[in-house]
Amino acid sequence: MGKINVTMLRYLSKEDFRVLTAVEMGMKNHELVPGSLVGSIASLRHGGAHKILRELCKHRLLTYERGRHYDGYRLTNLGYDYLALKALTSRGVVSSFGNQIGVGKESNIYVVGNEDGEPLCLKLHRLGRTCFRRLREKRDYHAHRNAASWIYLSRISATKEFAYMKALYDRGFPVPTPIDFNRHCVIMKLVDGSPLCQINEVDDVEWLYDELMNLIVKLGSYGVIHGDFNEFNLMLTDDGKPVVIDFPQMVSTNHANAEMFFMRDVNCIRDFFRRRFGYESEFHPTFKDITRESALDVEVSASGFTKQMEKDLLVGIGVQSEEESDGEEADIDSEEPVSESIEIEELRKHVNQIIIEDEDKTRKGTSQAVSSSSTAPP
Ligand code: ADP
Ligand code: MG
Repeated sequence: MGKINVTMLRYLSKEDFRVLTAVEMGMKNHELVPGSLVGSIASLRHGGAHKILRELCKHRLLTYERGRHYDGYRLTNLGYDYLALKALTSRGVVSSFGNQIGVGKESNIYVVGNEDGEPLCLKLHRLGRTCFRRLREKRDYHAHRNAASWIYLSRISATKEFAYMKALYDRGFPVPTPIDFNRHCVIMKLVDGSPLCQINEVDDVEWLYDELMNLIVKLGSYGVIHGDFNEFNLMLTDDGKPVVIDFPQMVSTNHANAEMFFMRDVNCIRDFFRRRFGYESEFHPTFKDITRESALDVEVSASGFTKQMEKDLLVGIGVQSEEESDGEEADIDSEEPVSESIEIEELRKHVNQIIIEDEDKTRKGTSQAVSSSSTAPP
């Protein structure tokens, strides 16, 4: 696990980023974005997109590939990382990059520094290369929407994580302090402590068990279930308090399988305490113990993480089957195919808007949630 590769970040010019952003936009509708289309979307004052495209390929921010119907450019993971990190450094949220501290199932975790040299946690969401292939085979008419599905899925995963972390933090839940997000990157405070999976001894096992079970019930009373509440997604601070992390898979207590998800979370903790600490309690919560106080899931969807994004994400990470998620397909189906000139005009506007947002030093994640949902998913 090394350092995050940001060597090129400060050498890339405004025009380089403009072209990279143009490819990102082109990927909304194209699996491979033809060079001429990139040129039109980027509309550089003095032309020369092709030369820049070649450079970006050399630095592995893009690849050039031969497709079945035409050739074109594709944004790489690294290219997408650069777009997000550029935005976060422009805003002054991040100013230095450190070591990788974790590889999760669907993320890479790094330490970064802010302008005051304080260490923060950067989570890069990486989703969707495989899941969506399956999806694409099944739904031809969705093919264009899924062309850049890994970009879309990684982005909505980070959007959801930030939205829930913030909502939970604001309500006093023990979660990392959320700082900001952009695209597939979430910035939060580092938790001083270790994941529970690395802990072999605790001062008061019974207290910790009760604390965790109470957390599961309290989440439920706010209308949500963590969905992956286990020793890998719980940290223990140096003074022995639990902190919950990792929120992309959270589901509503109104989900058709809510009770199953709830009991799975409860049982993960019971099993872990039995295995690790030889601790068994007669008491554990059940779904009926939830007293519904408010609906965090509804509030979060109102703040920019839409119902459609939620469905796409849950299908993408395999929490929900497509069958369950069907029902509101009509609005997608009825989308008119756009003509090329309208498309270029639209994408050009998006590039301009995104460049402005990425360079805006004052913009923080909270307001961004709304603006990124107003641009159509790929
Ligand atoms: P994934 O979704 O890939 O499982 P997680 O959010 O669970 O990613 O993070 C993976 C690992 O990174 C965690 O187990 C933990 O060790 C570390 N980690 C994540 N967030 C933080 C944080 N805020 N502070 C310190 N370590 C963290
Ligand atoms: Mg995890």
